[in-house]
Amino acid sequence: MRKQIEILNVPIDAITMKEAIRLVTSFVEGDTLKKIYTPNPEIVMLAQENKELHNVIKEADLVVADGIGLIIASKLKSKGLVERVTGIDLMHHLLLYCGANNKSIYILGGKPGVPDVAATNITSKYRGINIAGFHHGYFKEENHLDIVEDINQSGSDVLFVCLGAPKQEIWIDKYKDQLKCKIAMGVGGSVDIHAGTVKRAPVFFQKLGLEWFYRLMKEPWRFKRMLILPKFLIHFILHG
Ligand code: UDP
Repeated sequence: MRKQIEILNVPIDAITMKEAIRLVTSFVEGDTLKKIYTPNPEIVMLAQENKELHNVIKEADLVVADGIGLIIASKLKSKGLVERVTGIDLMHHLLLYCGANNKSIYILGGKPGVPDVAATNITSKYRGINIAGFHHGYFKEENHLDIVEDINQSGSDVLFVCLGAPKQEIWIDKYKDQLKCKIAMGVGGSVDIHAGTVKRAPVFFQKLGLEWFYRLMKEPWRFKRMLILPKFLIHFILHG
């Protein structure tokens, strides 16, 4: 039975990484498209004002807690989120599964040239992986359907959508009835990590839940954007 808990009215699956891996691999073998989103506190806050994003998240087949802030919030009010399941880690396990089981992937998003490099790096890192296609994320409104067609023509099983939030969630939801793949997953800047244009925090920071701190040191100009974290916790304490 699916167990979802609400953080500021945004439903998030209370699931471990192990359970999430089992679930997503069953999704790949399924018959219909499954939508996976990976919100962090910033996206939960965005959903407070953006009703479209909020509704789209509610319709997802899996929503994982990508951000230590969500786990801290859950613990503060004993809500029951078990552990952090980051989009990039879940993507890693999905890539391992796809490589081992002859499933193909499509990467949509990132600056022109970035998904190409990500595809090359993924091919060399994940044995047996089949990259059915990729496209950068800076396309015009009138080209959206051509992109959906390209994804369908590629025959890919899993679509990673890296357009940033809320664009990726809304894009997936808009084309859910046309897409023929089995999974459409919003994974934000993961394409940049796979391409090597953005470095992930070392494991030490990841284990302590301090990836945000590492990112702040590397990209201090994100400071303003990160103020959303304390804002989120205060809002959650008052209204969560
Ligand atoms: N992006 C895109 N098209 C857009 C806007 C963003 O492909 O119209 C890509 C951007 O190049 C980056 C990714 O979306 O690779 C994630 O962007 P961001 O860092 O803002 O999101 P985060 O990972 O922090 O949620």
